[in-house]
Amino acid sequence: MIIAIDGPAGSGKSTIADLLAERFGYSKLDTGAMYRTVAYVSSARGVDLDDEESVVDVARALDIAFDDAGDAPRVLADGADVTREIRTPATDRIVSKVSAYPGVRRALLACQRAFAVGRDVVAEGRDIGTVVFPDAGLKVFLTADPAVRARRRVLQRHPGAAADDPALAAEIESTLADLVRRDRLDASRAEAPLRAADDAVHIDSTSHTVDEIVDMIASLAEDRR
Ligand code: C5P
Repeated sequence: MIIAIDGPAGSGKSTIADLLAERFGYSKLDTGAMYRTVAYVSSARGVDLDDEESVVDVARALDIAFDDAGDAPRVLADGADVTREIRTPATDRIVSKVSAYPGVRRALLACQRAFAVGRDVVAEGRDIGTVVFPDAGLKVFLTADPAVRARRRVLQRHPGAAADDPALAAEIESTLADLVRRDRLDASRAEAPLRAADDAVHIDSTSHTVDEIVDMIASLAEDRR
């Protein structure tokens, strides 16, 4: 079975997809990591990101792999570890430009579908339920209040910090601005925009814990398995 989780930036898709995959023994497919890898590698190679054809060439030729063997999962681009580089604010700023290019999306779509052949998958992204796996057994559209999403994201980067720590205020504000900007770009692009599938279950995580959301989705999945 395929469980599709879509939603805006920072809505908790990745954390929740990890826990669900672990609970059910499914493989996890982080499609955002794939777009991030194309953006990061293009930029690191000095490709002009306004030059769509050159970015598409990078996407077509790049071998993106997920290595789950060690303690912490790694993302590899042509064998090189890019796990940290793809999560920096610099990559946050460029990824939505790159992911709007139809040729990039076509190249990654083929890899995403190939990943799921013959296995059970929890896949997360923006267009999983609408484009990548329109026949997924369960589709969830996960949202949360933007200010809450920004705060959670920053606290993830500073484990153990207090939510109201004044030292984090500026970072929360800039993260919020980035999330809102990315959502606007992702939702307004022509090709495979951020959108809930007609048959998706909408879940707002604003006032729920991660465990509560995982339980909710797991019980929906149990009903459909
Ligand atoms: O999920 P994450 O925040 O890592 O995604 C990074 C970016 O990748 C998104 O802002 C979006 O531009 C792009 N993306 C996409 N389609 C997906 C997953 C991610 O366009 N299925």
